[in-house]
Amino acid sequence: MTIKAANDSHQLSFWSAEFKDPAMEQAYQRHVLPDTVRFLRISLCVWAGLLIVFIPADLAFLSFSEGFFVIGGLRVAHATLLLWLAWQVSRRPAMASNGWPVTIVALLGYPMYLVYPAYQPELGVVGLGVMMMMFLSMYVFIPNRLMLTNLIALVGIVGVITGLVLQGIPFFAVMLTCLTLCWPAILGFVAAHRVNMGSRHAFVLLQQAGSANVVLEQEIARRKELEAELQRQALIDPLTGLSNRRHYEMLFEREHDRCRRHHSALTLGMIDLDHFKRVNDTCGHEFGDRVLQFTAEILQRPLRHSDILGRFGGEEFILILPDTDIAQAQAVAERMRLSLEQDALVKDGTAVTVTATFALTQVLAEDADIQECIRRADHALYEGKRAGRNRVALADAA
Ligand code: GH3
Ligand code: MG
Ligand code: MG
Repeated sequence: MTIKAANDSHQLSFWSAEFKDPAMEQAYQRHVLPDTVRFLRISLCVWAGLLIVFIPADLAFLSFSEGFFVIGGLRVAHATLLLWLAWQVSRRPAMASNGWPVTIVALLGYPMYLVYPAYQPELGVVGLGVMMMMFLSMYVFIPNRLMLTNLIALVGIVGVITGLVLQGIPFFAVMLTCLTLCWPAILGFVAAHRVNMGSRHAFVLLQQAGSANVVLEQEIARRKELEAELQRQALIDPLTGLSNRRHYEMLFEREHDRCRRHHSALTLGMIDLDHFKRVNDTCGHEFGDRVLQFTAEILQRPLRHSDILGRFGGEEFILILPDTDIAQAQAVAERMRLSLEQDALVKDGTAVTVTATFALTQVLAEDADIQECIRRADHALYEGKRAGRNRVALADAA
């Protein structure tokens, strides 16, 4: 019989109430280990305490007889063993989930129960009661593997029955004793079985919730990446990877505000490739696209991190140079112009070079917006084209 399981590794064996899958059972044992260790240590110490507490009662019944010393010796020996195990378990927690150490120590406690009737025959009924309580406690309070607790109970019952048969006790009395001992063992087994099944079921649910969380976290991360990519795409020109109009206008606003606040210099430039139509016409539109990418790459080379290069549209680019006056901007543009003129792209074994005309204008605090600066630069660009292209033209400040 199994509980309803999401997959095979979650199946539980009925008798042991453990996962059929050893790896799963190990994971469960690891998960509950801190609790197992704590409960085991407490219950072993309480058990040892109970053994010692009854020494005065032994003394009252047996006074300082041989029986008192034998039983007392067994009590002290077993209590010592229990305390030793409690100490070992805190040093080596794996002993707690193994089950065998506590099982062996429990079995070593039986001789005391077996010799007790020999010295205290009239207290046989009390001994039976103590054993019943011990079985129940063993299942309910001592954390152990269920099958090993069954073994402890079985050894106890078989030991008592064998003792009674050897003493020649009538069959009816033996059967009655057997049933009396079986009853708390069955009760304890059912209680421990329910607890074991329940806590493993809870563990499965916890694991499923954990993996659902992981999936959710992965999905959130994926969506964040997607969002970042969409945001990037909304601001970037797909062909050249430069800022698109929306982006550079936004950046210009920011720089213009800064320039007004700090009275710093700001220069705007327009760059227009010369006779680009010819490149398209002779080498094809696709090669024209490559030239635009290549140009974007070259124009970016002399730029600082704070400089902004955008694609204005077609074969035109826009340049925004913060903290740069017109003379410094002219030097930058000249370097760009020369690089463009000197670098070439190869088409069918032939080097293709392009040139560009640059126009620069100093951005003024009183300029209303980027359009006003673009208008000035555009005018200078027109003049630059007219003057023969491949040059840096300066706009008159408004
Ligand atoms: P000028 O020196 O006067 O600027 O001459 P021009 O040929 O560069 O100027 P014109 O405005 O006549 O032509 C611009 C050309 O740029 C026309 C158009 O086909 C091309 N163009 C615009 N956008 C793209 C693009 O994204 N890819 C390619 N391959 N060509 C483009
Ligand atoms: Mg143009
Ligand atoms: Mg052009």
